[in-house]
Amino acid sequence: MRGLLPVDAFRNAFPYRFLPFQFMRWSDKEYLLTNIVGESCFLQASDFTSFVQKTLSDSSCAYKELKSKHFLLDSDSKLPIELLATKYRTKKAFMEGFTRLHLFILTLRCDHSCHYCAASSVPANQSGYDMNQETAKRAVDLMLCCPSNSLKVEFQGGEPLLNIDTMRFICEYSKDKAAGEKQLEYVVCTNLASLTKEKLDYIKQHSILVSTSFDGPRFIHDGNRCFCGGSSYDISVKNIKTVMNELGKNRISALMTASALSIKHPQEIVDEYVKIGFESIFLRSIRPYGRSRTLESQYSASEYLEFYRKALEHIIELNRQGIHIVEGFAQILLEKILTPFAAGFVDLQSPTGSGMSFVAYNYDGNVYASDEARMLAKMGDETFRMGSVYTNSYSDIFGGSTIRALVDNSCVEVIPGCSECAFQVYCGADPIHNYTTQGDIIGHRPTSDFCQQNKEIIRLLFEYLNSGDDFIRDLFLSWVSPRYSMGEA
Ligand code: SF4
Ligand code: SF4
Repeated sequence: MRGLLPVDAFRNAFPYRFLPFQFMRWSDKEYLLTNIVGESCFLQASDFTSFVQKTLSDSSCAYKELKSKHFLLDSDSKLPIELLATKYRTKKAFMEGFTRLHLFILTLRCDHSCHYCAASSVPANQSGYDMNQETAKRAVDLMLCCPSNSLKVEFQGGEPLLNIDTMRFICEYSKDKAAGEKQLEYVVCTNLASLTKEKLDYIKQHSILVSTSFDGPRFIHDGNRCFCGGSSYDISVKNIKTVMNELGKNRISALMTASALSIKHPQEIVDEYVKIGFESIFLRSIRPYGRSRTLESQYSASEYLEFYRKALEHIIELNRQGIHIVEGFAQILLEKILTPFAAGFVDLQSPTGSGMSFVAYNYDGNVYASDEARMLAKMGDETFRMGSVYTNSYSDIFGGSTIRALVDNSCVEVIPGCSECAFQVYCGADPIHNYTTQGDIIGHRPTSDFCQQNKEIIRLLFEYLNSGDDFIRDLFLSWVSPRYSMGEA
């Protein structure tokens, strides 16, 4: 068309050009438009029709909003494109520095036997399941080959505090070897049952963040989490309070895993978090690995979403009453929706975070693309094993066929179903989940629980943002600036 008309005639006929965007019909009256840098815009149906027909008046509010948010271009200036490119680089900045989060599976032993355990833990007295110092040393050496100047070390299990000697070794060896050239942050993911004063002193001395599991009221927590030494609830509450007092509330965060029992009690769970003194809660559904595999069918994705919706509604109401509490998953999505940043949450990235942004060193020296990949391996499927600290080099592991296949098949920009989705920029791909639940790493969106869950939660957040309730908009903005919790590990 452009070749057939003189430039001025072209401009008169088509006064603006489209920049890349997705859209969806929001209701009979409105459309939601989003773009590659995370900007969003609700348009009246009539304005949307005018916009796509290139007849939208440049004096209208809709036009000005679309222009300012990079949905259209109406000049030959390169500046808007350069600005869009800068914003795009910011949105994809999680790829800079490559793999930043390194999970060390210190042991599979655990003093709990939670019925939803995805890690396939073994009893605390079993031998042969601890990471030894030679394996730890080799894993740290590999980690320090990663180009990023800022690395996060996460101690996982089983129960990592049962192998505190290797945890100490990793902290001290990695600090010595990095020699100040890399910034190292440490997190221990622990049920806290084996916490002692000596262990806590070490955690404090080395500024290690604590991430724990807490499922809410006693009848739910003890129902989900079986502890060989008595009530898991009692020991968790006691030690959570000790950590809060000794390290500060901002040094401990908690995850809640929703069982079939949990999803009947959203308000009670949130209230228990408030009672204990938490200012954030991270809600998540059961993962389809380990002992959880058989529990997955205990509730549907729709039932989980109903639980999530009620919990979030309650959290908003508590905030209205002046009680400060944040929901962690919503906070991550809101950071993607309301800020130029990517939130750094490895489970929602394109390409996938598995291998790219995080990696798991198993207790036996095998290296997996993610925590879930090593869980799958414990179930007998080694598909996402990237190599071994004993037999493979950094380039074998981080440039090998496993990571290449994961990246190739995990860009939402081109995946069938995701490529046209208006929520694509806020979502991500999880090829290991697709493989586990659907037998295919690309997966099938219409029957994917991962897709259903993300789509409905993102939609829910947009519903709140579009509701005209200023309190909710201000609350959500306060959750993302500044961020209140440690969140994404
Ligand atoms: S979920 Fe955690 S605390 Fe529970 S058995 Fe598994 S590793 Fe242990
Ligand atoms: S997984 Fe679903 S919600 Fe996420 S981008 Fe793909 S289609 Fe959209």
